[in-house]
Amino acid sequence: MKKTFPHIPRERLPALLAAMPKAELHIHIEGSLEPELIFELAKRNGVALAYPSVEALRAAYAFTDLQSFLDIYYAGASVLLTEDDFHDMAWAYLRRAAAENVLHTEIFFDPQTHTARGVPMEAVIHGLKRAADRAGAELGVSAQLILCFLRHLSEDDALQTLEQALPLREHFIGAGLDSSERGHPPEKFARVFARCRELGLRLVAHAGEEGPPEYIWNALDVLKVERIDHGVRCLGDPALVQRLAREHIPLTVCPLSNVKLCVFDQLGAHNLGELLSAGLAATVNSDDPAYFGGYLNQNYLETFAALPLDAGHAYTLARNSFEASFADQADKARWIERLDATFEQFR
Ligand SMILES: [Zn+2]
Repeated sequence: MKKTFPHIPRERLPALLAAMPKAELHIHIEGSLEPELIFELAKRNGVALAYPSVEALRAAYAFTDLQSFLDIYYAGASVLLTEDDFHDMAWAYLRRAAAENVLHTEIFFDPQTHTARGVPMEAVIHGLKRAADRAGAELGVSAQLILCFLRHLSEDDALQTLEQALPLREHFIGAGLDSSERGHPPEKFARVFARCRELGLRLVAHAGEEGPPEYIWNALDVLKVERIDHGVRCLGDPALVQRLAREHIPLTVCPLSNVKLCVFDQLGAHNLGELLSAGLAATVNSDDPAYFGGYLNQNYLETFAALPLDAGHAYTLARNSFEASFADQADKARWIERLDATFEQFR
């Protein structure tokens, strides 16, 4: 049953949203590359950029759809070459996460974006893993890695990538599917996801961001994913909504990303409230925060300012973020206790 907090007024929501413990389950680490760090790494590695300055690069972040964003996203990632570069990128994100009261994060990374440029798989995974371990020790933030396949490439390329990553299997907990959704349905990756399942990897996939509800069905039935990334287009299919609710399939919703990529024309038109009313395990996430106008707390703040959501919704979303994570039950219980304690403080 939904908890309510009628005594927490709307004007206290911004402080509550910032203070409440939360998890982030949909963050592409390459999408946390700020223009300043892109320029620093370009200088360190002697990579020439097509933009003369940080300001010019920032100004180019005016996307019209997923593809126009991806074009600049891959250009930004071109400065990442060494293990230290991957560490520094992830460390910058994890420090921000700690400052926003993120207790746990499951970080997506796209090895193909890097291995296709000749960067060794070891540099990618060791760099990210070093930052994740350091976050646990120095920041008290639990961080895990999820290897994602680029869906605009072939399944054979994905299979090859998986084999390359297998010597480092102990360093990542799951596999996902991202990049251009339209024209690249989940079933294109049936074999590689079957292989991931055999390996005991936890499975997620982007579906129903720009693609139709059918992609969500196939992500569940063909790929057998445990979580749907985005999934906001499920509301067009009542039978799908019933199933997602019945099976408690979490949706990792990214409100600012959805507006920036024109999935919704403004935050006030976002369907997050409807998803929660339909009993779906929705969570709030930042997706590619350097590119979409904000990290996790900014997503919460702007979304709650634009929609008729209250403290009860905030509690549900934060609690969902822990419950939808791949952490063990003891960690989840400990985090939810801290969440409850924060809401008590706001009494
Ligand atoms: Zn995403």
